[in-house]
Amino acid sequence: MRSIHHFIDGQHKAGTSGRVSDVFDPATGEVQAQVDLASVDEVNEAVKSASKAAIAWRESSLTQRTQIMFKFRELLADRTTELAKVISSEHGKVVSDAAGEVARGLENVEFACGIANHLKGSINEQVSDGIEVYSLRQPLGVVAGITPFNFPAMVPAWMFATAIACGNAFICKPSERDPSASMLIGEWLIEAGLPPGVFSVVNGDKEAVDALIDHHDISAVSFVGSTPIASYVYQRATALGKRVQALGGAKNHMLVLPDADIDMAADAAVSAAYGSAGERCMAVSALVAVGSAADQLVQAISERIPGVKIGAGNEPGAEMGPLVTAEHRDKVAGYVQRAKQDGAVAVVDGAHADVPSLGFYFGPTLLDHVTPDMECYQDEIFGPVLAVVRVETFQEGIDLINRNAYGNGTAIFTRDGGAARQFQHEVQVGMVGINVPIPVPVAYHSFGGWKASLFGDTHMYGPEGVRFYTRAKAVTARWPVPSSSQVDLGFPQNT
Ligand code: NAD
Repeated sequence: MRSIHHFIDGQHKAGTSGRVSDVFDPATGEVQAQVDLASVDEVNEAVKSASKAAIAWRESSLTQRTQIMFKFRELLADRTTELAKVISSEHGKVVSDAAGEVARGLENVEFACGIANHLKGSINEQVSDGIEVYSLRQPLGVVAGITPFNFPAMVPAWMFATAIACGNAFICKPSERDPSASMLIGEWLIEAGLPPGVFSVVNGDKEAVDALIDHHDISAVSFVGSTPIASYVYQRATALGKRVQALGGAKNHMLVLPDADIDMAADAAVSAAYGSAGERCMAVSALVAVGSAADQLVQAISERIPGVKIGAGNEPGAEMGPLVTAEHRDKVAGYVQRAKQDGAVAVVDGAHADVPSLGFYFGPTLLDHVTPDMECYQDEIFGPVLAVVRVETFQEGIDLINRNAYGNGTAIFTRDGGAARQFQHEVQVGMVGINVPIPVPVAYHSFGGWKASLFGDTHMYGPEGVRFYTRAKAVTARWPVPSSSQVDLGFPQNT
């Protein structure tokens, strides 16, 4: 059985805890490897190496950091397919989708290539007689990133690219379900010239996460995952006085007005609900159909579902792969079963889909007449399940979205500019699409939801990422001529 270890000090290091977790191939259901689960001692070893590396790394010049990022960018771009195949084999998403994930992660690396521009401070000359005040930003030291299974390359890239470019050492704790992408990233960063210890990977579960949070030398924690764990990480780390950004789960609504192009909206709904088998934090899982849009949309979506090509991630032409584990597939199936008992109408039931006999497949599911009190509306199912909620008016739709516990992403489909403007103004959600179903911001904006989708006040990557991974310092400087010096016990005032 293949073993996946840790990546510490620029090298693969076998685990010593004796605990391992199975890594499946979701397309066959077979165990393809075992990943080591770190003990507190192993986390301590990684932090020790990172702390040592951070001292030298913070002194590296912006030129050096930029050159390494450019080199890494080239390696990642050249090896996109290689990385995508690795992601697909452990996650289950199709290779083309995994390549899309790598491309979005690459944008974060490209942002980091321009870090010198983002780290420019500011200066006021002559704030008082002969005095300048300038503000600058410095790295924090060693920072940790705890990442989910659904984007094993892109989400780490949201974090490490900016963290490292800002002069920090970064320790990644990837999901134990698909750890290999971050291990490859570690190897390629070394190849690009990054000093050992500046990027490490500690594989593990709760024990490793807790040890990272609790470690005195970890200055900040970035987390992306489900809401209960995001809340837990936020509370535990902030109680220790750490800087934390913890992104949680989602229930993303797509609102369709009757004036929308229904075919376009149906294409978007199918793509955004069933792409990556719905295992995206920005997947559309609730379709808010206003008035007469509902019947047409349900019809158009149900006509498109049989055309979704389900198959193994590496199968040519496959558009939707299996779910990540059998356990998760069964959880999704359970939600669909209970939704029907609750009164939802399964227009298409994924349990009856024609899927490969091996592997963790569940077909695209369309639930109609879902009401806000139903479990299938309230919970994040994280599978290929689209719930249609019918509302009479536009305002009813906005109110529904605003009452939802989550606030990650949302989208409106309409031809009415005024309605779109009202929607983006009133909706209480962090990322909004106007005729765009999955509005993931580009790398030079920042990513983050509202409400139960984000704990902390800094969004991830882009300008907010730079602020998160650095702290501000203000310097007041004077270069007086010695003859002008005198004792003055009064509080310094500007003249
Ligand atoms: P998860 O919360 O189960 O795991 C995330 C990370 O936390 C993993 O590294 C895992 O090992 C660790 N972890 C799990 N249980 C823990 C515990 N009890 N204590 C400490 N650490 C623990 O999430 P997942 O299933 O890997 O990913 C799917 C979830 O992530 C979904 O809810 C999805 O919406 C969310 N997500 C959110 C965003 C976003 O930007 N808001 C992006 C991607 C994924």
